[in-house]
Amino acid sequence: MLEHDVLVIGAGLAGMRAANAARAGGADTAIISKVHPVRSHSNAAQGGINAALTDRGDDWEDHAYDTVKGSDFLGDQDAIEVMCQAAGQALIDMEHFGVTFNRDDEGRLGTRAFGGQRRARTFFVGDFTGQAMLHVMFEQLIKSGVRRYEEWFVTSLIIEDSQVCGVMALEIRTGQVYAIRAKTVIFCTGGFGRVFEPSTNALICTGDGVALAYNAGAELMDMEMVQYHPTTLAGSGVLISEAARGEGAYLLDKDGNRFLEKYAPNMMELASRDVISRAEQTEIDAGNGVNGCVYLDCRHLGEALIMEKLSQIREIGIDLAGVDMIKETIPIRPGMHYAMGGIRTNIDGQTNLPGVYAAGECACVSVHGGNRLGANSLLDTLVFGERSGNHAAEASRSVDYVEFDVNQAVRNEEKRIQDLLDRPQNGDRIAAVRLGMGDSMNRNLAVYRNEEGMQETLGDLKELEKRFKTVPVDNKGKVFNTDLVFALELGFMLNCATPIVISALDRKDSRGAQARTDYPDRDDKNWMKHLVIKKGEVGPEITYAPVSITRWTPEERKY
Ligand SMILES: Cc1cc2nc3c(=O)[nH]c(=O)nc-3n(C[C@H](O)[C@H](O)[C@H](O)COP(=O)(O)OP(=O)(O)OC[C@H]3O[C@@H](n4cnc5c(N)ncnc54)[C@H](O)[C@@H]3O)c2cc1C
Repeated sequence: MLEHDVLVIGAGLAGMRAANAARAGGADTAIISKVHPVRSHSNAAQGGINAALTDRGDDWEDHAYDTVKGSDFLGDQDAIEVMCQAAGQALIDMEHFGVTFNRDDEGRLGTRAFGGQRRARTFFVGDFTGQAMLHVMFEQLIKSGVRRYEEWFVTSLIIEDSQVCGVMALEIRTGQVYAIRAKTVIFCTGGFGRVFEPSTNALICTGDGVALAYNAGAELMDMEMVQYHPTTLAGSGVLISEAARGEGAYLLDKDGNRFLEKYAPNMMELASRDVISRAEQTEIDAGNGVNGCVYLDCRHLGEALIMEKLSQIREIGIDLAGVDMIKETIPIRPGMHYAMGGIRTNIDGQTNLPGVYAAGECACVSVHGGNRLGANSLLDTLVFGERSGNHAAEASRSVDYVEFDVNQAVRNEEKRIQDLLDRPQNGDRIAAVRLGMGDSMNRNLAVYRNEEGMQETLGDLKELEKRFKTVPVDNKGKVFNTDLVFALELGFMLNCATPIVISALDRKDSRGAQARTDYPDRDDKNWMKHLVIKKGEVGPEITYAPVSITRWTPEERKY
């Protein structure tokens, strides 16, 4: 029998941090990941992680204010205070674990400027910060004695009498289905970027945890808030880090004008992401772009700086768009990047389902509100990963495993999977349904939105759900059946897509990442509230939750 006090689903930064904390708290802890841990999307983080260090004359309250303002006043201020206060220690812990952060000329930890913040407080390792952090956390994980289920795919969450019992999972290498019992389960399954096409997210970011939790009755929050990053590469949509602008790059229209003068005269290229993405889209729509893009200009930064601090994105530009940023401007455009919304939690990662926690991008605490500041997500994964791990370890001490019929559960899951494999071969292709969903979301739920477009996508999704029911799985084998995994992931993505659209349709104002052309203003009187969405008897049900305001009164947002 596989059983653990604390079972962490996902081995990105949030998952590994949670597992280490739970283990340190004395719990029998396991971590399960559908890919090898260091292939998690955290590995792709480029720009850095925010923290206000007092010995630099910085102040966590300044960081908290910038975060609140960045969130367009939708972030919960109590949670933001917790995160920003813990940031310094979280960063130093990473340094002590062994992350080789860049240093300044005096040998101290180096910083770079990032968007929406009044001072440089982003700590970084070149332009591959996530990779450096994830590998170090993996070393810590190996040292900790946490049991690892690598390349295991969680297919269901098991709940009996409103108490979590564990999960069902597929060992991808063998095709065997197992039940893993757990007293507490922590979802650290990352974002759902691939619901949109294109996206900066890895192909594995399919919202599995958000869907599993939602289907089991968990509340989701802020689902309408989807971040479009201002600089994604023409064509592929791969991310060109905000670090480029942090180091001083410009955004130019087709005539070489720095158009942000019109939109954010003080912060210019370092305004918050939602503001810049809207500025770019407005210019592109007005015919001031080229082929649906504007330009990122790094040439004046010089070869030495680019090679030292931005070498990875330079290579991405050369390999994927044939442009060398040392000598040329790069065509970029806004692209889907991050989910502010997710499984609703409190500051200890607890969801509305007893024993079920969430942390990292799949969770919504909500520290990002309507718009996340760059470099606040890595911080979020560490702070709330650790808090969830601590809380789950403590909670698992006072509860017992909930009994359930393990053999029956395995048989049911095997049958469900076999039914998928046995489908007739004449349905739509997985890829076609996936692209249909991604295209429709990107067409109507991108930088600008309106009722008509979103209704169209809602209709498309109903149609795609029908088509999904007959997609065939070509590979009938047991060993590494990635075709089967893709089919399951597509189901999860469709489960995420509808709550996004329904929430965005419900919110009749513009704030943060949600910019509605039919409701262009921020309406604090009616819409200064979170949208909470839950699976009801007949379909998704929306309720509202107040925004926690501790000390920063909402004001008009200007950069
Ligand atoms: C290109 C890119 C650059 C970024 N740069 C930055 C940056 O510079 N600074 C910053 O703060 N943020 C950045 N972000 C955002 C940040 O990297 C992510 O939000 C964060 O790393 C998410 O971490 P996570 O631990 O929540 O999830 P992830 O790292 O995505 O990990 C998810 C884990 O869940 C597992 N999993 C998922 N589904 C299942 C399942 N069904 N069964 C088993 N396992 C499952 C996966 O295997 C994986 O281990 C960037 C994001 C991208 C895409």
